[in-house]
Amino acid sequence: METNAMTGMAIGMIVLLTVGLGIFTTLLTQKTLVLLGATPDDRFSNFRERIDRVIVYMFGQKRMFKEPKSGLMHAILFWGFCVISLRTITLFAMAFSSQGFEYHLPGLGEGALGNMYALTKDILAFLVLLMVIGAAIRRMSYRPDRLTPSGEAILILVFIGILMLTDFLLDGARFLGQMEAGALSAEGQMSPVGRTFANIYAALGYSAAEAMSVGKVAYWIHCAVILAFLNLLPKSKHFHVITVFFNILFSKTEPAGAIRPIENLEEQETFGVSKVEQFSWKQLLDVYSCTECGRCEVNCPAWHTGKPLSPKVLIKDILENLHHHEKRIISEQNVVGTLVNRIRGQETEPPTADPFTPVEPDLISQVNEDVIWSCTTCRSCEENCPLLITHVDKIIDMRRHLVLMESSFSKEVGQALRNLEQKSNPWGLPIADRGNWATDLDVPTLSENPDAEYLFFVGCAGCYDERSSRVSAAVVRILKEAGIDFAILGKEEGCTGDPARRIGNEYLYQLQAQQNIDTMQGYNVKKVITTCPHCFNTIKNEYPQLGGDFEVEHHTDMVFRFLDEGRITPTQELDLPSRNSEETRVTYHDSCYLGRYNEVYDSPRDTLKAIPGTNVVEMEQSRENGFCCGAGGARWLMEEHMGTRVNQERVRQAMEVKPDVIATACPYCTMMLEDGLNETGEDQVVVADVAELVANSL
Ligand code: SF4
Ligand code: SF4
Repeated sequence: METNAMTGMAIGMIVLLTVGLGIFTTLLTQKTLVLLGATPDDRFSNFRERIDRVIVYMFGQKRMFKEPKSGLMHAILFWGFCVISLRTITLFAMAFSSQGFEYHLPGLGEGALGNMYALTKDILAFLVLLMVIGAAIRRMSYRPDRLTPSGEAILILVFIGILMLTDFLLDGARFLGQMEAGALSAEGQMSPVGRTFANIYAALGYSAAEAMSVGKVAYWIHCAVILAFLNLLPKSKHFHVITVFFNILFSKTEPAGAIRPIENLEEQETFGVSKVEQFSWKQLLDVYSCTECGRCEVNCPAWHTGKPLSPKVLIKDILENLHHHEKRIISEQNVVGTLVNRIRGQETEPPTADPFTPVEPDLISQVNEDVIWSCTTCRSCEENCPLLITHVDKIIDMRRHLVLMESSFSKEVGQALRNLEQKSNPWGLPIADRGNWATDLDVPTLSENPDAEYLFFVGCAGCYDERSSRVSAAVVRILKEAGIDFAILGKEEGCTGDPARRIGNEYLYQLQAQQNIDTMQGYNVKKVITTCPHCFNTIKNEYPQLGGDFEVEHHTDMVFRFLDEGRITPTQELDLPSRNSEETRVTYHDSCYLGRYNEVYDSPRDTLKAIPGTNVVEMEQSRENGFCCGAGGARWLMEEHMGTRVNQERVRQAMEVKPDVIATACPYCTMMLEDGLNETGEDQVVVADVAELVANSL
């Protein structure tokens, strides 16, 4: 290339890069400072697991393939982008190289690696172009409900399309020149699409020089569009192109069911989140990363039944609030000063802003209290989010503010909290009656049998609710049949604290949890069995935060283990009214806190299959995609004033497989589904816990 032309190209590129990267760096710095001004959160342990997640969820695009067609489309765009990004660097570097448009990055020129890269890039760029056209058609003609119409999405597709097209126009011009000189490079030979563009130039009557003029224009358009694209990202829902790596890398590695505790409760002045910067930096990174793809909405029980909560809109509202407050956060939190002082090794005065003074627009009003209370904490949204964004923690943080700072909750919640506080059960029933369910069952308490191998932690429902205590009795029968040495706590047992924590009363939760931990440690308990998935989750995943480490097993895992070990053998067909005389059709409803939270999916199903005469049939929405019964997140304590009832929707889904029995593994699911069947007139169908069915067949 001529020296003058080269210098001109380099100067042009320096101007373009200075402007483009200058604006981009400013925007990115602003976002980074906002994250630095948010609440700290240690996300730097378990690096091996974090890297694995990046490989599986980012490079492997695992969650995207839940919808195979659109997943493949996105995966091709993503993989294409990864490969083509090397080409992008090459294009910018061309402006500074004496080889000009024939420059290649070291290793990607002549040779096997370069040839392989040329072929891969050429094919992927073409596929990306096809996917862009496909995605545009899909958005404009048969857009899925979960996607909000968006001009920005179309603009991004146009940008990507231009990038691919201009790249081919440049390659085609280069290859035409080489072909006319009778020396097509190895790169040209390995680039079928680029060569096709060269042939199109030739077919249109372009000489090599004329084609190169077009190629040069295409080159500058390409570079300008890349920089425009880059600058659009931080302001758009496509910011995930930059944040996805970090969002997945720093995703939560603690158990999904362990809510972040409020440390040193007694010393805190404020609780929960009412200002957006009170979220942790990772929670705000989540918000910046949301693509508004709506996958989180697809199986959300609140959204499906006409409640005001959409997990997608929840994140979008928090983002809008954050955009309003970015500048204030950076100045109020003195982020830059703190950083400078940290580098100098000096202390920084804490922010002077009064944490109690609300800032407009107010986060809670923007999100809306009805939204905050509509969530069943079922985690379906989180299970479906390709970026591993979490929603439940944000809901709980805002509930903590409403409950602990504002005392803003419904009458039913207030009554339940008083009952939990005074009687350690949500109904306010006498503590002395907690062990009454076992009166005729010959079950020892730990005070009577302190050396028992297992503690059967019964839970509030299993103790006080007549229907659930039948499940407790079935578990006792199985434990005895299996020859297990166990005991209960009787009136020494208290609520685990799960409802208080999910309501947002962290103070009451920690009090209740600590009492149980102290009691259990006082008896030197090592192994715990639960029937309630909420108790199971809390003791297993949350008590360790307060120093309570126990080996916890849910009864469905335990029963399956007993079957496997030959300790029990179901021999009888179920003694239940059946529609089909030859088999009992059983469909299993996954409890969210057992399934999605703790990945217990197979034991209950395998146990049901072991019962003679049963035919286990799956609902369409099962396992990871199971639909909540509506009880979680302490929702069962609240009235359902808006939309239709979640339990009725779940019953409707169950009835599609024409079951005789809906099997459950949670007392609250059992209550909700029985109510749902009664409310919809389907009361010929039986709802029964897996333990009851097994006990029935022994
Ligand atoms: S939270 Fe996740 S699933 Fe929901 S819209 Fe955002 S990126 Fe999509
Ligand atoms: S946790 Fe469940 S109810 Fe709450 S937003 Fe997510 S999907 Fe909806």
